[in-house]
Amino acid sequence: MNERVNILGVKVDAVTMAQAVERVADLIDAGKPSIVATANAEMLLRATHDDELKNILNAASLVVPDGAGTVWAARHLGKQMPERVAGFDLVQELMKLAPVKQWKIFLFGSAPTIADKAKVKAETLYPGIKIVGTRNGYFTAADEPEIISQIKSARPEILLAALGVPKQEKWLAKFRDELQIPVSIGVGGTFDVMAGVVKRAPLWMQRAKLEWLFRAMLQPSRAGRLVALPKFVLKVHQQKVNS
Ligand code: UDP
Repeated sequence: MNERVNILGVKVDAVTMAQAVERVADLIDAGKPSIVATANAEMLLRATHDDELKNILNAASLVVPDGAGTVWAARHLGKQMPERVAGFDLVQELMKLAPVKQWKIFLFGSAPTIADKAKVKAETLYPGIKIVGTRNGYFTAADEPEIISQIKSARPEILLAALGVPKQEKWLAKFRDELQIPVSIGVGGTFDVMAGVVKRAPLWMQRAKLEWLFRAMLQPSRAGRLVALPKFVLKVHQQKVNS
């Protein structure tokens, strides 16, 4: 078992991408319903004032270090954190492996047509992949029984939920036992990127750890969310000083 690093009260797994993929495979083999989360700085900051989210993350089977901020935080606290495991990249690795392992995948979330476009993209990129269902992420409580039965009857090994943070984590936790899907992962904007409606930062920006800046530039509505970053840095520093 790898070390779990406490960052602002959330235990984040110190795993590489390869280890994360292996853990997901083990969880699927085990067959018990489990939740995998991808923790970026914004999510970790939110968990400091959202106990429900914090408890879900700490009960999750795997919490990967999504984003440069999370890796920085662990290292600043003097802990090992091998590399960044971005949610988008984890999904691509799992999709690559899915035809070999015969894992079926369900895409739940994002605006109407986006998950369908992401499905087509996945089928082009990963021949033989079985995307056994899609459902957009705009619904009311009255729609939930139908959504649950749609997902259950598709019998996926992996459920990807793109409803945004913290809605996706809370939804997956609420219905985990009812759904009985081996692995459910909250994947944020992954389908938007796969569908081509939102671009990922160019590699040089990802390497320079500037993906957050690129996203803010491209979607100015997100710019307000940037204040989370200095707050996160400050809180992590306080944690270090107080420890
Ligand atoms: N979304 C959704 N239902 C909602 C709210 C959001 O399906 O009620 C989708 C939205 O269309 C987008 C994704 O959730 O595809 C959130 O993407 P974002 O990049 O904002 O993710 P975050 O940064 O919150 O992980």
